[in-house]
Amino acid sequence: MKKIKVGLVGSSGRMGKEIIQVIENNSRCEVFYPFGRNDKWDAKKAKSVDVWIDFSSPDALKDVLKRAAETKTPVVCGTTGFSKKEKDLLEQYAKKIPVLWSSNMSLGVAVLNEALKSLAAISHFDFQIEEIHHNRKKDKPSGTAITLQENLEKAVDKKLPAPLAIRGGGVFGVHKIYSMSDEEVLTFEHSALNRTVFAKGAVQAAEWLVKQKPGLYQIRDVLFGKQK
Ligand code: NAD
Repeated sequence: MKKIKVGLVGSSGRMGKEIIQVIENNSRCEVFYPFGRNDKWDAKKAKSVDVWIDFSSPDALKDVLKRAAETKTPVVCGTTGFSKKEKDLLEQYAKKIPVLWSSNMSLGVAVLNEALKSLAAISHFDFQIEEIHHNRKKDKPSGTAITLQENLEKAVDKKLPAPLAIRGGGVFGVHKIYSMSDEEVLTFEHSALNRTVFAKGAVQAAEWLVKQKPGLYQIRDVLFGKQK
């Protein structure tokens, strides 16, 4: 079987290293083009890449998408800290190539985002999101908390207090959603036990994305199919 050739932007970062390990244990894929911040771009090599995975920084996104579009190569992007400018870029390039962006590549968080829809039934409750991450994390609140907040506000159809963000130690990522009334408290909680969970999700997404048409996808679409 021909292996899927993965191009990896941010290959020497924490997530990049994790993705290399996950792919080493995956017989269907290979890391064909690892690309770091100081590497010179090799357009000839890039032509043979089947799918790009990008876990780097918001400033890399424009080049990643432009170069991928030149060769019609799909892009899985897990970078967070995006402003409206980067989100617009994702939309713009998704017209030309398949683009999958998720602030959290874990399957558990994909299911959690779906579960939030059920909170519509108790939309009169008070809600608060809280997240905890390691002390090296650059963005605050986390991209995951922002996505959860957007989906929660949509489900309960009201504006909610901003997520609370705690930074400390080596925590990979904890997200809690409190739903509170005078009589009861319901808590949804997700904990990432390691970084591998995000790397595995990103590689699963890449294997899925190579078979999709141009469009903007999220990790939930890998599990549940594209949202209309
Ligand atoms: P990191 O700082 O350890 O690694 C980032 C790497 O990208 C570094 O090696 C850096 O040199 C490289 N880089 C930066 N700009 C680049 C450019 N223009 N071209 C090529 N390489 C470039 O960070 P990390 O912990 O690996 O996280 C990377 C990103 O992924 C962050 O935005 C983080 O929030 C996000 N993240 C997302 C998920 C998810 O599931 N979506 C999970 C964990 C982390």
